[in-house]
Amino acid sequence: MSEAQADSAQNGSTPVDLLDKFAAIDAARAEMASHGEDPTRVVLDGLISPTEARSQGRRLLLAGTNNYLGLTFHPDCVAAGQDALARFGTGTTGSRMANGNYTGHEALERAFAEFYDLPHAMLFSTGYAANLGVLNALVGPDDAVLLDADAHASLYDGCKLAGVPVYRFKHNDPASLDKRLKRLGDRARRALVVVEGLYSILGDSAPLAEIAQIKAQHGAYLFVDEAHSLGIYGAHGRGVVESAGIENQVDFVVGTFSKSLGATGGYCVSPHAITDLLRYASRPYIFTASLCPSVVATVHAALDVIRADDSHRKSLWRNARALYEGLAAAGFALGPECSPVVAVRHPDRGAVIQAWQALLGAGVYVNLIVPPASPDGGSLLRLSVSAAHTPAQIDELLQAFETHCQALRPAR
Ligand code: PMP
Repeated sequence: MSEAQADSAQNGSTPVDLLDKFAAIDAARAEMASHGEDPTRVVLDGLISPTEARSQGRRLLLAGTNNYLGLTFHPDCVAAGQDALARFGTGTTGSRMANGNYTGHEALERAFAEFYDLPHAMLFSTGYAANLGVLNALVGPDDAVLLDADAHASLYDGCKLAGVPVYRFKHNDPASLDKRLKRLGDRARRALVVVEGLYSILGDSAPLAEIAQIKAQHGAYLFVDEAHSLGIYGAHGRGVVESAGIENQVDFVVGTFSKSLGATGGYCVSPHAITDLLRYASRPYIFTASLCPSVVATVHAALDVIRADDSHRKSLWRNARALYEGLAAAGFALGPECSPVVAVRHPDRGAVIQAWQALLGAGVYVNLIVPPASPDGGSLLRLSVSAAHTPAQIDELLQAFETHCQALRPAR
């Protein structure tokens, strides 16, 4: 960094150079790494199982992977991926709209439509692209998006790409949504309410029954991102839309393959026939290469596993309850409800960074979340539970928090 850059970063003056703005990022990164490793650059050299890895010669217990159902090494998924790799090659080298539309993509779309019992489904190359792609095609400057204040960055980015006016409502607050829809008057019929099923940082679920009722009263549309709830909520694993009983009231369900399905990619399902037309208006769908055939095959196999066998979901919830209840009993301040995402919260960023480093030193990997990524200005350690965690590994996590995270316990 140049002297001028350092000066302007220190005294907060307007940057004069194109690269000046990176000084603040550099300082934040240095703070996170100040007590040991850079939390954004942990390298996994090899995977022992879905819940254990080798990193720099030591074994790490993984509790921040979003590998909720532990399917990344499921024999059916691995075999399906290997077979597709051998038969279709390493990649499609093109967009779905051109040379990148293989039989596997079409079959996976049909499988998703069938799984949700909805007529229309569409794949995207990531979950991020699914949110950008659906919003980009569906809404524009003359429409309106009512967005939960804690929504994921991809939902904000999708609105930016669409150029749609955004009205934020208070997180998980149906009354706040109602107020904003009322203010829109007749424009409410051109409004899309955008929420998540399970929020990814604090692990709290959306009150979807109330939200669906309010959107219907105003003639608006409802979009639910089920990135963290697919395969986890609902009797069939169809997410919070299923557990909240609103499957016939939702307009667009969007999700990702990068969590419970253990791969990469995204999807949208919908009862609306225009879903097929989104393909022609969605830049993140048109202008990027389609999913690799091997990825499509592993996702299809993982979806078949979810449909045929609920034992993974049951193990996941057993583990989630044990971890959430164990940490609550130990006195940590957690998110508002038990879910596979467990947030250990503390207002002091430095203390949370130190605790993260201490856990890593003891061979335990969790996610470090600091502002602006945290919803309330505080910091937190985010754990995601997997069906593949053994009861002994859950005990190991509880013990590690007991030993290394005393400073995160609120004063009694
Ligand atoms: N939506 C939510 C709520 C997410 O948490 C994420 C990823 N963390 C995404 C979308 C994007 O998914 P992907 O990683 O598949 O791009």
